[in-house]
Amino acid sequence: MKIVMLGAPGAGKGTQAIKIADKYGIPHVSTGDIFRANIKGGTELGKKAKSYIDKGELVPDEVTIGMLLDRIAEEDCKDGYVLDGFPRTIPQAESLTKALAEKGEKLDYAIDIEVPDDNIVKRMSGRRACPKCGATYHIVYAAPKVPNVCDNCGSELIIRSDDKPETVQDRLSVYHKQTEPLIAYYKEEGILRTVDGTQDLPKVFEDVVKILG
Ligand code: ADP
Ligand code: ADP
Ligand code: ZN
Repeated sequence: MKIVMLGAPGAGKGTQAIKIADKYGIPHVSTGDIFRANIKGGTELGKKAKSYIDKGELVPDEVTIGMLLDRIAEEDCKDGYVLDGFPRTIPQAESLTKALAEKGEKLDYAIDIEVPDDNIVKRMSGRRACPKCGATYHIVYAAPKVPNVCDNCGSELIIRSDDKPETVQDRLSVYHKQTEPLIAYYKEEGILRTVDGTQDLPKVFEDVVKILG
């Protein structure tokens, strides 16, 4: 099963992708997580990506596409994966379609999680992240068991530097301009499915499972 998650920053792609990966036994591949791991590790890729991420801009396709195609060529991805945060541009989507077609493969579903912008801004202000394992929480809607401590690994949670309200606004406009056209792209391919992302977290997952079976 090969799945792409679509939706604005903060729509709940990561939250749902982790649950999908767990239920269907496929890897969760997040380009944001790969960039953050590289920034933390001080790699060349991380240095390149950081300046764009901090401004709320997209990392250039030349960097991102190769990185993602390498990741899904790894052994654990051979029976499928759920992509979270990729593709984010039409050229990224086209490169993915082409790379899959070369192996006689294709995506099964593109799941678009719909959430209006004003709702996103509220959601992002409550997002907390674990700097060690990448887990995501929300101070109200997905609170950790102990305030500000990661359930998985016990680390202290942080506010991502790109989750500042000003940067969130920039990321939303980038989303509308560069990423939203993917909805039409995957509709055309016949694999688009839409879920109402304003519902509570378990209900959104229920709808996702109805689609995936
Ligand atoms: P969110 O979960 O809020 O949507 P991500 O963790 O997916 O954010 O991504 C964080 C940042 O990493 C993005 O704002 C962007 O700068 C960069 N990024 C992630 N994926 C991509 C991609 N496919 N193309 C370009 N930039 C990306
Ligand atoms: P994305 O990966 O699309 O950027 P996340 O999965 O990180 O989004 O979710 C953004 C924030 O909203 C997180 O703090 C998360 O805990 C919270 N969240 C996710 N889904 C829901 C939901 N259905 N209702 C309320 N909050 C949610
Ligand atoms: Zn953790």
